[in-house]
Amino acid sequence: MTAIKDQAICLSTRKYSESSQVVTLFGREHGKIKALAKGSRRPKSRFGGGIEPLTCGNVIFSPASAEASLSSLIEFDLTESFAGLRNNLLTLHCAQYAGFLLGEFTEELDPHEELFDSFCDCLENWQGTDRPGELLLWFILTLLEKIGLGIQWQRCSACSRELPTRRRLYFSSSVGGLICPDCEPAVIEKKYIDPVILEIFRDPSRVSSAKSNQVVDALDLLNYHLREQLGKEPKIMIFTNQLLRQQLR
Ligand SMILES: [Zn+2]
Repeated sequence: MTAIKDQAICLSTRKYSESSQVVTLFGREHGKIKALAKGSRRPKSRFGGGIEPLTCGNVIFSPASAEASLSSLIEFDLTESFAGLRNNLLTLHCAQYAGFLLGEFTEELDPHEELFDSFCDCLENWQGTDRPGELLLWFILTLLEKIGLGIQWQRCSACSRELPTRRRLYFSSSVGGLICPDCEPAVIEKKYIDPVILEIFRDPSRVSSAKSNQVVDALDLLNYHLREQLGKEPKIMIFTNQLLRQQLR
C-alpha cells in the first residue's frame, strides 16, 4: 500500500458510519481525493474528532485500488481552519459553493496546483471581506479557465468573428460563450447579456468598482452557465444566490 503525502483542503464530508466519514479533499499536488477516514468521528481519533469542510491540513492517504473503490485517509493534520468564514452566513455559503464547484468540475487525482492556490487565497480573503460575491465571481472565472472552459468575451464562440457593438448579445452555454447576431437565431439555448455585465467580464478589474447588484447579475450569468454544464441546479447554488440577493435589499 503506497502512502502519499499532500497538502489538502476538505471540500465536503459525509457520515459513513457512527465512527467514520467519507471526505472529499482537494490536494495541492493530487487534485480531488475521495477518501474514507476510518474512525475519524471518534473523539480520540488521530483526526481529532472529525474533519471539517473548508479546513486545510497535511494529509497522508493511500489511493483507491482494485480492492478499494475509495482512497483511504491515514492522516489529516490540521494546519488552517479559516475560522473567520463561519462568522457570516453569506461568506460561508460563497466558500461552500466554490468548494462544491471545485469538486464537481475536477476529476479525481487530476492535479490543479493553481486552482488549489486560488481556492486557498479565496478562503483566506473571504474571512475579511464584506463583498464575498466579488471573490466568488473571481473564483468561478478562474475555475472555468483552469479546467479548459474559459469564456471568450470578445468574439462569437460559434463563428469566431468579432462581436458588434451596440447590438443585443446573447450567451450560450452549449456554444461556450457569446454569440453574434448572425449566429444567434440558430441557437435555442441562450441568455441575454446586459452590456454593463459584459464589460465586467471583459475587464475583471472592474469588479472591485462594480455595484453589488452588478456583481450578483454577473454571477447569475455564470450560474446559468454552470447549471447548464452540470445539468442540474444544486441547492448550494440556490441558497448562495438567495443570500446574495437578500443582501442587496
Ligand atoms: Zn457568430
